[in-house]
Amino acid sequence: PPGQAPQRKTIAAIEKIKYIVAVSSGKGGVGKSTTSANLALGLAAQGWRVGLLDADIYGPSAPRLFGLKGQPEVVGNKMIPLEAYGLKIMSIGFLVEEDVPMVWRGPMVAQALGQMLGEVAWGELDALVVDMPPGTGDAQLTMAQQVPLAGAVVVSTPQDLALIDARRGVAMFQKVSTPILGIIENMSYFLCPHCGGRTDIFSHGGARKDAEALGVPFLGEVPLDLAIRQTSDAGTPVVASAPEGPHAAIYKELAAKV
Ligand code: ADP
Repeated sequence: PPGQAPQRKTIAAIEKIKYIVAVSSGKGGVGKSTTSANLALGLAAQGWRVGLLDADIYGPSAPRLFGLKGQPEVVGNKMIPLEAYGLKIMSIGFLVEEDVPMVWRGPMVAQALGQMLGEVAWGELDALVVDMPPGTGDAQLTMAQQVPLAGAVVVSTPQDLALIDARRGVAMFQKVSTPILGIIENMSYFLCPHCGGRTDIFSHGGARKDAEALGVPFLGEVPLDLAIRQTSDAGTPVVASAPEGPHAAIYKELAAKV
């Protein structure tokens, strides 16, 4: 309804981006970055022009996930995003030294993120996937308010603790009137490569139940799988390295729902 929309700054450089989608998680280590990367590749596989903004200032992972090094070139007053597998990629990790701990206060976070959006030559994109900093503190809230998000995806493992945090994530986006595109359950189950048996290491199905209870879409399950970890660590996320494989199919299906 009129009057209830949060105040959002319009950033000139992102006017040519059709959809900005945030991928968030209530806590670190649940696979938010892995999911962001493979979702972005899944969207690109649909023929979309896609960018990935690694806004995880506490632990930027795009350099490792995409095997990218080096600083972006600056042309005029804009940084040129790096490219991998057809994605335009920008990460705070390209701008700061690896292994140097950073202390971020809320306003610094908002400013850094504003720069990575507004001072990057993104050009025309169908979608920009934003790998958000984990958590639901002030920094994340400011980010959600500052960026004109089309919607947010929340990644969780099936464990209770991660789910409690994921619920907070959903509440945070609802607070700033960002539509929740849905919840993804990562590390949902383990398929043994030796015997083919299935094990629900972190329990299973919690995210689906939570999504139902919260009245938001459940987008799907991603298994805990060695191939996903190995390809990510090698700088060739699974959708890029095995585009016709079973894992890519899972992420493409998720991308189609986003
Ligand atoms: P976050 O961004 O939430 O901190 P990451 O995406 O960096 O998490 O994932 C944490 C670790 O778990 C990484 O080593 C990653 O390769 C691994 N990982 C993430 N999702 C999966 C999965 N579905 N199967 C196997 N390993 C995974």
